[in-house]
Amino acid sequence: MTDTVITFLQTLSDLTGVSGNETAIRSAIKPLVQDHVDALRVDALGNLITLKRGTGENPLRVLVTAHMDEVGLMVVGHTGDGGLRAEPIGSLDARLLPGLHVWVGKDKLPGVIGVQAIHRAHGDTSVTPVDKLVIDIGASSKDEAQSAVPLGTPVAFATRFREMGAAVSGKAFDDRAGCAVLIALLQGERLPCDVYGVFTVQEEVGLRGAQVAAFAVEPDVGFALEGTIADDLPKEEKDVSPTTELGKGPAITVKDRSYTTPPRLLSHVLKAADAEGIPYQLKQPGISGTEAASITRARGGVPAITIAVPCRYIHGPRALLRPEDVENTLRLVRAAIARLTPETLAFT
Ligand SMILES: [Zn+2]
Repeated sequence: MTDTVITFLQTLSDLTGVSGNETAIRSAIKPLVQDHVDALRVDALGNLITLKRGTGENPLRVLVTAHMDEVGLMVVGHTGDGGLRAEPIGSLDARLLPGLHVWVGKDKLPGVIGVQAIHRAHGDTSVTPVDKLVIDIGASSKDEAQSAVPLGTPVAFATRFREMGAAVSGKAFDDRAGCAVLIALLQGERLPCDVYGVFTVQEEVGLRGAQVAAFAVEPDVGFALEGTIADDLPKEEKDVSPTTELGKGPAITVKDRSYTTPPRLLSHVLKAADAEGIPYQLKQPGISGTEAASITRARGGVPAITIAVPCRYIHGPRALLRPEDVENTLRLVRAAIARLTPETLAFT
């Protein structure tokens, strides 16, 4: 099972899908799920909405989301000598950018984020803001750069997936890890209730795809699958527990900056994990936001929870995760959905 899920992750990680330009990701996911679902459509924003009918034992409508988009850059100008100016799409750490290889546009034109040679830095160790960086595509003139790369072209990290000891490394694990889990969930056996598996767009710029998908699907309950922050870095001083840690199982959100998980749903998921012997960890509360925030506010309100694969170095060019955490996330989501009943969601 791990091989399959990790194969999906590898395929999706090597493709580019900066927020608002998710076509390549959607095109890769569609053939992987279409023979395993009962309905499939693409909505006006680009969300890929699938329905896998349940066995009929349970009337609940369950929404499961994973976002296809990744953080990156967008070209917003051309310098006189053929360089590209860019601005961030989603939250990026400017310290990580100088010197990186990037893929420009849908045809993956190669580029380098330019940086002054150390010989000319004169001891300057300051961080160059993103809007002062120049992406070098090797163009010899402004005209050449403008015709090759129009304004608005997306730019992604040029990172190839690779195995690294007990871990794997690649870009966009936030949230291609969630997408890989959702593909495997849809390829698996039918669950007692209908599952709407939605691969969403534009999460990194405002949870937009999930907002409209949750409205359209009208779910009874929602699960947001994520790749989340693992900051269990070696030798780092910690005065609080890490957000999450690699190898400790899926991270379950109690509360983040965007929403609070309903206690009855949280306790249901923890009981499912305990019953199946699936390791899990609670994510340090108060950090970041997820699509559960959009789902929870849909229509008259929908109870929602986030279950995430811990990933080191997310939103950077090379993230790192443990395959067993991906497999255990899949096991937990299946177990939690399989055990849902209308009573699970009712207030007592
Ligand atoms: Zn994410």
